Amino acid sequence: SDLAQLLETARRFGDATMIVDFDGPQGERRLTYAEVFAWRDRLVGHLGIVRGDRVAISMRNRAEWMVAFLAVVRAGGVAVVLNSRGSPAELAAMIDDVSPALVIADGERAAAIRSGGFAGRLIDLTQPLEDTGVQPDELVPAGPGDPCAILFTSGTTGRVKGAVLSHRSLITGLLGTQLTGAMVLHGMARQYGVPVKTIMAQVPPQAILLVYPLFHISGLGSGFLAPMLSGAKIVSMRRWDAAEAVRLIAAEQVTQLSTVPTMLWDMVHKARLADADLSSLRNIGSGGQALPLNLLEEVRRLCPHSLLGTGYGMTETSGAIAQAVGEDFLRSRASAGRVLPLVDLRILRPDGSECKSGESGDILVRSAMIMTGYWNRPEETAAALTADGWLRTGDIGFQDEDGYITIVDRSKDMVISGGENIYCAEVERVLSELPQIKECATFGIADDRLGELLVAVVQADGLGEEAVREWVSERLARYKAPARVAFSPGPLPRNHSQKIDKIALRALWPQLAAQG
Ligand code: ATP
Ligand code: MG
Repeated sequence: SDLAQLLETARRFGDATMIVDFDGPQGERRLTYAEVFAWRDRLVGHLGIVRGDRVAISMRNRAEWMVAFLAVVRAGGVAVVLNSRGSPAELAAMIDDVSPALVIADGERAAAIRSGGFAGRLIDLTQPLEDTGVQPDELVPAGPGDPCAILFTSGTTGRVKGAVLSHRSLITGLLGTQLTGAMVLHGMARQYGVPVKTIMAQVPPQAILLVYPLFHISGLGSGFLAPMLSGAKIVSMRRWDAAEAVRLIAAEQVTQLSTVPTMLWDMVHKARLADADLSSLRNIGSGGQALPLNLLEEVRRLCPHSLLGTGYGMTETSGAIAQAVGEDFLRSRASAGRVLPLVDLRILRPDGSECKSGESGDILVRSAMIMTGYWNRPEETAAALTADGWLRTGDIGFQDEDGYITIVDRSKDMVISGGENIYCAEVERVLSELPQIKECATFGIADDRLGELLVAVVQADGLGEEAVREWVSERLARYKAPARVAFSPGPLPRNHSQKIDKIALRALWPQLAAQG
């Protein structure tokens, strides 16, 4: 079966609300499942593509984005979902790289893409679509290994790469999300000490607040496709606004929030979460990077009825490959959970032998979830995928005796200073527990004597360099204290996944360091 066939099953939710498209001061639009399917079918009549054609989608999060994706997949095309925040030149370069048969955009980006020099076919889906009378063809399923979508990585460690995900990868990724849903139900049953049956009868209709960009795997998979398959209401925000998010949770009776630590931080510290009505929330997931411990405690205190969870995954694996929810998460808070049964995982030493439990090494995964390769990047594909189908994740971590994995760092973020390995993520975790520190990042800079030197950039109130260094050396080995600490006057640069952009920070380092 292919993704289009699977998604077709959501037609049965008919008159239930599928999308609440919230557009700030412009208000909101509400669409039922039946309306979304009707719109999709009308759009299929306009696509004029054949199976396997690539169609680029470039829009903010909005109903049109979801309709475009559904139409492209329904017509057998490959949806290339672009980071919609690029400049006209960046958008033009990305589009050039994927040479799509068609681009579907919103008004703003349609103009930008045209001004960037794109001369191919383009549909501005924010304009009315007349009915062509063309009915979608009978569904002829694609092969499971055929490409279905191309999603770009976050570019945290270098230039972004387009991961080609097959129908099989995406369907298996959705199955993984369903398994997590079952874990949530069982977790709630345990938390309240009642049978799962009782929970199922009492859980309010599922409503998810979509805060991730749809072009990111977390937005596409757990924010859109998985909720759609279960008939949930998807409350979508055009742009991130912590206060609006908190208001929407109460107004739309949102049951599920899946987010990243930065957004949780915004909600706790900027949006008066403490005064808000969050009683509808049942499940809060945080992923993409480790959740700082003091933030976790804050969220637990404010949302005592919510089950907290985390996951580990990447664009190349079509979503989360490890998960922990509720008690399982609290048991080992620094861990990213247990590996899903759909995934084989190995942790290897530099010489290729297997690490023992508790020993850190390079994480490799094999699963139907993993990509077929990077678009147009044969060298990067060959470096990432082994001949026998394993994906080198580029992450370093360990697995404990109970199967929980902890991500220690990215291999590119490990600093070797005077022969000692320093994991930036570990130092950042300790720094982020210093109450005055709002944000922090560490990285290595070249040093003649030690090879590399660990340095830190922090955004903090009323702290000196020495106090920061002391905080770390009291808690970790002395050599892990940053050799230099620079203070950033404002928030640190971030990429579209809200991860700190260390490439930009490195470029800023000389200037920040000079300011003392
Ligand atoms: P690029 O591959 O372009 O450098 P990226 O790796 O940030 O960017 P994504 O695919 O969005 O792009 O992110 C996946 C990565 O995020 C993982 O490989 C891992 O490094 C990190 N990550 C995801 N979940 C967790 C987690 N729970 N704890 C720590 N790190 C995580
Ligand atoms: Mg990556």
